[in-house]
Order: sequence, then structure tokens, then C-alpha cells
Amino acid sequence: MTFTLHGVAVSRGIAIGRVHVVERNQLQIDEIRLAAHEVESEVERLGNAVSRARHHLREIRDNIPSGTPNEIAAFIDTHLLMLDDASFNEEPARLIRQHQCNAEWAVKLQRDKLVAVFDEMDDAYLRTRRDDVDHVIDRIIRNLQRHKPLRHEVPDRKLQGMIVVARDLSPADLVLLQHHGVAGIITEYGGPTSHMSILARSLGIPGIVGLHHARRYVTEDETIILDGEDGVVIGSANERILNEYRQRQAERTRYVAGLQVLREAPAVTLDGVAITLQANVELASDFENVRAVGASGVGLYRTEFLFMNHADVPDEDEHFNTYLQMVTALDGAPLTIRTADLGADKPLRQGEEADQQAANPALGLRAVRLCLREPSLFWPQLRAIIRVSAFGPVRMMIPMLSNIDEVRQVLDIVRTIRNEFSSRGVEFDPHMAIGGMIEVPAAAISADLFAAELDFLSIGTNDLIQYTLAIDRVNDEVNYLYDPFHPGVLRLIATILDAGSRAGIPVAMCGEMAGDRAYTRLLVGLGLTEFSVHPAALLEIKHIVNNTSAENARAIARQLLDVGDGARRRALLEELNTHGT
Ligand code: PEP
Ligand code: MG
Repeated sequence: MTFTLHGVAVSRGIAIGRVHVVERNQLQIDEIRLAAHEVESEVERLGNAVSRARHHLREIRDNIPSGTPNEIAAFIDTHLLMLDDASFNEEPARLIRQHQCNAEWAVKLQRDKLVAVFDEMDDAYLRTRRDDVDHVIDRIIRNLQRHKPLRHEVPDRKLQGMIVVARDLSPADLVLLQHHGVAGIITEYGGPTSHMSILARSLGIPGIVGLHHARRYVTEDETIILDGEDGVVIGSANERILNEYRQRQAERTRYVAGLQVLREAPAVTLDGVAITLQANVELASDFENVRAVGASGVGLYRTEFLFMNHADVPDEDEHFNTYLQMVTALDGAPLTIRTADLGADKPLRQGEEADQQAANPALGLRAVRLCLREPSLFWPQLRAIIRVSAFGPVRMMIPMLSNIDEVRQVLDIVRTIRNEFSSRGVEFDPHMAIGGMIEVPAAAISADLFAAELDFLSIGTNDLIQYTLAIDRVNDEVNYLYDPFHPGVLRLIATILDAGSRAGIPVAMCGEMAGDRAYTRLLVGLGLTEFSVHPAALLEIKHIVNNTSAENARAIARQLLDVGDGARRRALLEELNTHGT
């Protein structure tokens, strides 16, 4: 019988395909006491499992499809290096001998010990590396228990066209899955603005998150329909329903293809307000997509991927080479490099291993706070950004500012680096724009003070909404409260735009709200003229902009700032979206 399941739609598009369920972290480990004569063969069993784990990883690395971002290969190399480390082979062997126990138990003891060491580290960046420990340990135990590697971790053509259902997926998992050609993803946890969801949108993979117990309701290989528009999964569909969705799929493909004609067209409202449409990118490989949609530049390059899945913090040259590659690919269009926004939902691997130390990681040591605390992480990145400014139009953007002092500290470091470069004859652009993201309500309310210190502002609505409405952006239990349309949010946006225009500096928006077609006209009405959106949304946003009267939009937007009644608000937005031309 046909059944439907509801989750949170995070990436548009319809997928029809067979299910592949990812099962992970369900390893059962019991302690087994060994007789003295069994100990050495147990040590040998451990050695074999480590070798097999190494072999599997090498196989994965050697078969990485061409075009896979370097970050993914680096991530695999890190795990290979760890497998060669005494902590992962000699130490568990010693524990087998000491406790006369089975290898699984020894590996588990060693895991607990390593994780405890990581947890005690003051260095928040290193602390987050314990996820890697878990993944490597998990791999050894799977080999001890003769589990196969997870299917999506090895090149597998059969995954092509399948819909992956998992408890949770990391951004790195998603990149691998995209290379396997999966048709869609469904996760049991997560929210629409989690990093994984953002990545799904930029990779154009239809997706649904927060679909509780999804793995319980679907079975491997059964065919399902994933509707990434409405967040619905349909199982055991009959031919009539399948045909209807195939038709919708075809319509969507036609619609997206039709938008291509707008690639070269300017973005300008019906009454002549020019709008800048830039792209958000997460990976170096996204640059193809930036060009494909004719974006006028990159309004947000999330550099976290350079840090994630990396053995150590990237050095200055690694930053520099990546940025130079991007500047060259952009061929004169501006590149806005956001300094590392690590922490909270963007640790090395997303999900249950995220910073469990802090009770409220989103309010903790993340983004610019972490960078200022960790010079070894921050300085090489700043030096590279300053150096690359000599090669093209580069802007530097500081995330999650809450305090003017943070701006001053960053600007001080920039000054120090520039002075050093000047004295050594290293080239850089002394006029490189330095801007900040306004995503903390306190910064939004006092945006004028930030505008006085910075060259531009960019509104990060994902965090601004999270902090304004007090809802964790990755917690599916409170997703329903996530509301860009809340009057409190709109007033903050209006305040930031006003502060920018009074100070005579540009204000962009690079949060997901900028790429949500439901709010395009409203944002134009509030006075936003610079949008940075994921490439998959850019042409559709341009289509709406080009069919909007800014004057009509302004009139309705102004009203919306003062109307509290929900029904009246929705009616006004509806009016704007249907008759706003
Ligand atoms: C935001 O918060 O809106 C933003 C663009 O940054 P991120 O989603 O990477 O936190
Ligand atoms: Mg943010």
C-alpha cells in the first residue's frame, strides 16, 4: 500500500529511485577474556584488521573519481596516516596483552583513552579532531568484525540513481555520494540550514532532512519518490502516482533549462533597480557552477572545507594556492573569502560527534572567536588572503561578529601582516575591502557601529535567524519555528540595510534567505541590492528580480515591518509574490 513520510525539504527537485540505507555506528563491542595461549593470535588478528583497513582506504583514495575536490583526498590521507600511528596499532596490541582481552575491546579502550585526551585539549580546533579518531577506530572494528566498508565509501556504480537514506550525513559524505551519482538524500536528523543541507542545494541533489526514523520505514532496494519541493517521501507508489511525479520531474527540468536564457541577462527590476547576484561556494569545484549560471562574482566562499578533513591546519601556501586558483577561475569577478567559520555545526564531521563538550556549541567558541583564540589557525589564512589580493579583486569577510573589539583585533592583525609584507616587498592590494558578517542580533542592532569600521557588511540570515528566534539551526525538533519572515528578523534586516546606506557602504545578504524565491521581492522591497545565493538558485532569483516592481515591493515591505497578525502578513506576502510586477 502506498505510504507517505514527511520531513523538511532542503534541496529542490524530484528523485525517483531505489533506496540505499546507510547503517553506521551500530557496532556492538563486548569484552571477551582470552586464555594466555590465545593472546598472540589475537594480536595478529588486530594486525590483519589494521592492514585490511589500510588496504580499503588506499583503494578508496586510488579510485577517487576525477574532479573530486582535493579536500576529500586529504581527508582519506589523514586517516591513512593515523592507521600507521602507534596509537592505532601498537597500543591496542599492548592492551590485548595487558588485559588478555579480545582485539575489539582493546581498540575500544584505546579509543576511549584517545578521545579523553582530545576532550581535555584547550585547543578547540584539535579537540574537534576526535571525530577522525572515531572514524578510524570504527574502520578497524568493522574489519575485526568482518563488516564490509560502507557502500558509499568505495566507488560503486550501482549507487548511481539511488536515493540514500541515513541517520545523518557529513558534508564529506555528500561530496562522495554526488560523485557516485546518487539521485537524492534523506536524513533522519538535521535542519535546512545545516552545512550538509546547504551543500546538497549547491550540489543540486534533491534532499529531505529531519525525517525521523526514515530507515525504519524504507527497505533496501525498494523504489521511492523523493519530493524535495514539499519534503515528502512516497513509498510503494502505483503507476499512476509514479507517472505524475515523472511528469513533474520533466516539468522542473524544462523550467530549469528555460532559465538558462537568463545567464547573460542583467538582473534589474522592472523599474530599473540594478541588483547584483553573486554565488555562494563551498568547494573549489563549485566554480564551474558559478560560471555556468553567470554569477557576477562570489559573495561568500566558505573556507571551512579547507580545514575540514585535513591532517593539520592548512598552511599559508595551501590557502594561497587554493585562493589563487579561484581568483584565476573567476577571471576578474570579485571573490569574497570568508575567514574560517569553524565550530558549532561545522566541525570536521557534522552530526552526533559535533562539539559535545559545550552545552551550547552555537553560542560557543566558533568563527571569529575561535580564530582570534587560535593564531596558528588564523594567521596563515589572513596572510594568504592578503597575498592573493595582489592577483585580482578579493574581499575578506569576517564571520559572526558580535563585538566591535573583534573587528579591531582582526584589523590590527591585518595591519601587522601588511607592514611585514611591505618591508619584505611582498605584493598585496592595500585597498582590499574588509567586511563583516552581521549574523548576531546585537551586531544587527548596532550595525551602524560595525559599518563605521568596515568596508562592507553581509547579512548571514542562517545564523541571524537562529540567534534571533533562539532556535538551533540543526535541531529538527524546532525547525518549525525557523522563520525568515518573522517581523523581528525583517526589522533587523531593515536596520542593517539602513546602517549600510547611511555609512555609504554596500550591504549584501549571503544567508539562505537570499536564495529563497519566496522572499526575493520582499528583500528587494526592503532595499537589498546584493544577493549571494547558491548557484542552483541564482537564475530563478534573477527571473523573479527581472519581474519585480521595486516600488510595489517597497510599499508592501514597509507595511510588513509593522503588521503582527500572521494571517494578514501571509496575505501581504502572497499579494507581493503574485502581483508584485
Ligand atoms: C549565515 O549564517 O547565514 C551564513 C551565510 O553563514 P553559515 O551558513 O556558513 O553559518
Ligand atoms: Mg553563519
